[in-house]
Amino acid sequence: MVTDVSGVYPADAPASQALFDRASAVTPGGVNSPVRAFRAVGGTPRFMVRGEGPYLFDADGRRYVDLVCSWGPMILGHQHPAVMDAVRAATANGFSFGTPTEGEVALAEEIVARVAPVEQVRLVSSGTEATMSAIRLARGFTGRSKIVKFAGCYHGHVDSLLAAAGSGVATFALPDTPGVTGAAAADTIVLPYNDAEALATVFETDGDQIAAVITEAAAGNMGVVPPSREFETALRDLTRLHGALLVSDEVMTGFRVSKAGWHGLGSGDDGAPDLFTFGKVMGGGFPAAAFGGRADVMAHLAPSGPVYQAGTLSGNPVATAAGLATLRNCTDDVYAHLLAQSGKLAYAVRDALNAEGVPHLIQSAGSMFSVFFTGLTAVTNYDEARQQNLPAFAGFFHSMLAQGVYLPPSAFESWFLSAAHDDTVLDQVVSALPAAAKEAARMAQ
Ligand SMILES: *Cc1c(COP(=O)(O)O)cnc(C)c1O
Repeated sequence: MVTDVSGVYPADAPASQALFDRASAVTPGGVNSPVRAFRAVGGTPRFMVRGEGPYLFDADGRRYVDLVCSWGPMILGHQHPAVMDAVRAATANGFSFGTPTEGEVALAEEIVARVAPVEQVRLVSSGTEATMSAIRLARGFTGRSKIVKFAGCYHGHVDSLLAAAGSGVATFALPDTPGVTGAAAADTIVLPYNDAEALATVFETDGDQIAAVITEAAAGNMGVVPPSREFETALRDLTRLHGALLVSDEVMTGFRVSKAGWHGLGSGDDGAPDLFTFGKVMGGGFPAAAFGGRADVMAHLAPSGPVYQAGTLSGNPVATAAGLATLRNCTDDVYAHLLAQSGKLAYAVRDALNAEGVPHLIQSAGSMFSVFFTGLTAVTNYDEARQQNLPAFAGFFHSMLAQGVYLPPSAFESWFLSAAHDDTVLDQVVSALPAAAKEAARMAQ
């Protein structure tokens, strides 16, 4: 359902609007990543000029509590002193050498130390590159071509992973976007998330052609949809049985929901995925990402092996310094704080929406959570995630925005907190909730 709410919330951010007008003349849609354009909620996208701790400041001089945190990376808040120092120290030595540097070794060591099944990693610059490279490696390692992905999971804008729709079980997906060829999509099998039976069926028919199954460790890109235990067991058992690799995309959950990401919240290293992808938090706000896993699989990468993968800015010294400083400051205390604060906020949102009788459902995966404006009692897959009252979300969003709270401008995104979101900051968010719930109720009509 696409609802046009563009006329409902006129611009009241003149400086942002002027910048957006300039941007729209020289950049498609005025943004460099689509969700930023506010198309799902209407109104003027805010151009931010500064971040500080839990706050963002826009071009009109307004302050917002930031519940996006750059879509996850800013887990310590903006301008964390240790990260600022690390970046300053790194930039003082120059920006990029095109040679190995110690910082990238230290970052790789930190990742390997945190996530036990990851024996080796290769650093890249974006989550998209990480999943794209992991898929190529899985195909090179197994000599097979097919990939299984799940509807509603986002793995970056990799051609073969953009396919999200298929009619029914084991359907070969059509390209979901113009520009992705049928050939690129033909080797992608799209299944419903959390559907162990559909996975078993597809392995029965195509098992010997499947190179890998890639899944969001806990889905966060259709709203937060955690995997069932049964689904996780099926992922592990079926890939092992049929000689396919299991690729766990932890670009969002990695180093966010625990020291070892979603894997760290699971049942141990026994049923570990073969490959992992990371990004977001591990770059601390800079472009740094990684894929890694079993050493015997990683050995197939150039220059050790024949699967080619490379990057001019991979392991960039400034990015690795920011990432390493961020991870080193993501202590057990930080993870406990994130969990406690997100729990408090989720309950406050529930109470406010209940008070106005707005149907909704809050789901969490560790400290990540999202609010579905739905009458459903559980959302387990993409079809269910899409059954939302989107105008209700738009109303909620714009009321929060007007009260100085910056939420993700889409009903299909996780909310993110940081170490800097203390009780005082949460109180500001909570005090904005009653009016936002009223606006959601009004728009839901
Ligand atoms: C953000 C994200 C990506 C893509 O990362 P980019 O750095 O935006 O390319 C891939 N997978 C998941 C699960 C993500 O959340």
